[in-house]
Amino acid sequence: MAAFRKIGILTSGGDAPGMNACVRAVTRKAHAEGVEVAGIIGGYSGLINDNILDLTPRMVSDIIARGGTMLYSDRCLEFKTEPGMQKAIATCKKHGIDALVVIGGDGTFRGGTDMTNRGVPTIGIPGTIDNDITATDYTIGFDSAMTTTANMIDCLRDTCESHARCNVVEVMGRDCGQIALYTALATGAVAAVIPEVPFDEPGTIARMKQLKAAGKRGFVVVVSEGVRTPEGTPYSEKLAEVIAKETLIETKFARFAHVVRGGKPSLQDRLIATEMGVMAVDLLLAGQSNKVICRLDSKIVPVDINFALISDRYYKNKLKEGDLDAFTPDQVNAMKERAEKLNAEIRRVYQMIEDTSK
Ligand code: ADP
Repeated sequence: MAAFRKIGILTSGGDAPGMNACVRAVTRKAHAEGVEVAGIIGGYSGLINDNILDLTPRMVSDIIARGGTMLYSDRCLEFKTEPGMQKAIATCKKHGIDALVVIGGDGTFRGGTDMTNRGVPTIGIPGTIDNDITATDYTIGFDSAMTTTANMIDCLRDTCESHARCNVVEVMGRDCGQIALYTALATGAVAAVIPEVPFDEPGTIARMKQLKAAGKRGFVVVVSEGVRTPEGTPYSEKLAEVIAKETLIETKFARFAHVVRGGKPSLQDRLIATEMGVMAVDLLLAGQSNKVICRLDSKIVPVDINFALISDRYYKNKLKEGDLDAFTPDQVNAMKERAEKLNAEIRRVYQMIEDTSK
């Protein structure tokens, strides 16, 4: 058992509902094991600027159901520099922080591995609404963001039916189309437009015309923000114009943007955030570090951070020279299989949207 006195915890990158539930779980579990907790305010900026708030179990009371993050979040460029990291290490030394739990996305994990390599053992927990971390089936916040998105689309759908309109909805997700994909399926949208699958614009327009002729009144198309025109502008807005012109269905456009990053975390996000937070503390106390806590096939499991980061580049076709050198053929094969599995699942759901909206 590693003899830690104090674990530091931070939330970094885009906030997500459920981050608070995770901060609470880490704090309570650590104290239950006799370890203190330092809340780092404002992500890696808080480490650099010595903005630390020691957390007692009572200080995290009544946050399990709250959106946002009580520790605040930040994007900190200085942390990516060696002098910035040295300042972060100095803050850890000053406060007796022996280990870190960092909640965020892949950028946050890169920072976490830098800290481990400089002597502060770190565990990453995936917290982002986008569900865009390849190594895990699930990231904290995804279910809440989808639920909020679906509720808002349902509202639009009501008025689309009343007025025989179409609504094109743009949703967040950066370069990952999963929020758009699953909410389209769950709200009865006619199509999802996502970065992972080439969009058949003429085919969709033809299908909408047929459906209109068959008596369908309300139409919703969900577009991921990551889909851009060749000029780099949002494809969602352009598609709304094309649909209006080609189908003659009155078409409105809505961008949900940051609204779906807030709000109460769903039951699933609270549960998974709690399980991941508890496991992070368990792993650190067992002497492990440089891991990301993942959910794979409904189980919460640790995955090596470097494997997770390179799997992500593999899946997103962003591998750099030498990235695979540190991995065995079996590990590279596992990355390939993971990428194929994710792509197959996306295509399966994509096809289901089309099949159930005829
Ligand atoms: P996310 O964690 O959601 O991917 P970012 O990419 O904005 O969000 O990363 C969050 C923070 O993590 C950054 O502001 C920075 O402080 C740190 N970070 C990002 N990339 C790196 C990197 N390559 N090395 C060290 N720290 C990084």
